[in-house]
Amino acid sequence: LKTAFDPMRQISKQIGQIAKAIASGERAIDILDYEPHVRDFPGATKAHPFYGSVSFQDVSFGYDPNRQILKQVNFAVEPGQQIALVGPSGSGKSTLASLLLRLYDPTDGGILIDGRDIRSYKLDSLRQQISVVMQDSVLFAVSIRENITYGRLGATDAEVEHAARLANAHDFIMDLPQGYDTVVSERGGTLSGGQRQRIAIARAAIRHSPIVILDEPTTGLDGASEHAVNEALNRLTQGSTTFLISHNLRAVERFDLIFYIEKGEILERGTHPELMAQAGRYAQLYRLQNDANNLDPQGIEHVLEA
Ligand code: ATP
Repeated sequence: LKTAFDPMRQISKQIGQIAKAIASGERAIDILDYEPHVRDFPGATKAHPFYGSVSFQDVSFGYDPNRQILKQVNFAVEPGQQIALVGPSGSGKSTLASLLLRLYDPTDGGILIDGRDIRSYKLDSLRQQISVVMQDSVLFAVSIRENITYGRLGATDAEVEHAARLANAHDFIMDLPQGYDTVVSERGGTLSGGQRQRIAIARAAIRHSPIVILDEPTTGLDGASEHAVNEALNRLTQGSTTFLISHNLRAVERFDLIFYIEKGEILERGTHPELMAQAGRYAQLYRLQNDANNLDPQGIEHVLEA
């Protein structure tokens, strides 16, 4: 399901490894070197602090040259806009997001942030300004404090706590016997899925990123936990250009812009009311999901796989 973001998981692991490496005096560059797909372009310069406008200009991409995944994708969004990417499984939503991070480069066309091709920015200065929260976030087997600090090395304890409060995490952290010094396990362990997500959100929040990517961040959480995570996500994304990938159309109704993606193309775009008025694929899916939700909690997935 999340193949496109496997490299992303690697990157987020790398953030931890880099942090540890710097602490132990290794050169971060040696670790970054194993990112195989992209490199700094000759003449790339450090990115300025982004405002956060993003545009895709005729972007095509395939992992394999014989199979196009994205086909001439075009859009332009303003700083601070909230964009939802919806559509069937395998339609290319995560791939689109991974191109923005330059995990891969388009085979055709270009991606611009603040009007400049992202290949003209040094990779690390690009990625530093984009926060990612995925389903099932990666935590490291270090303290909660360090897990949050990996979002921005050198952050103070007060900044860590501020980010944790924003992420609805401070209270449950304080309830742990060792508080911020609690060492978490990489998978599962003492923290619930929702608590792990909130630590990941705190890690993202401490970066103050102008651009945020959320890839099904609440999938698999129960109702109460989902509510706490959503509240944290709302605060995290306030004022940042946000791309949310979601299978749940009810979760995207309030978004500024919804892209309905199918087979690598944006088939429909607009606000929820606009898309409903178009009475196209989005509207059809929305009605099916609502009916399915009323009948069967698994309905969303059934409908989307159909
Ligand atoms: P989902 O909703 O299931 O997450 P998606 O819309 O995000 O799907 P992508 O994950 O972008 O879709 O996948 C689009 C297509 O690209 C799929 O056919 C997938 O199998 C393929 N794909 C994704 N990642 C890779 C990869 N790293 N290498 C090769 N093919 C990939």
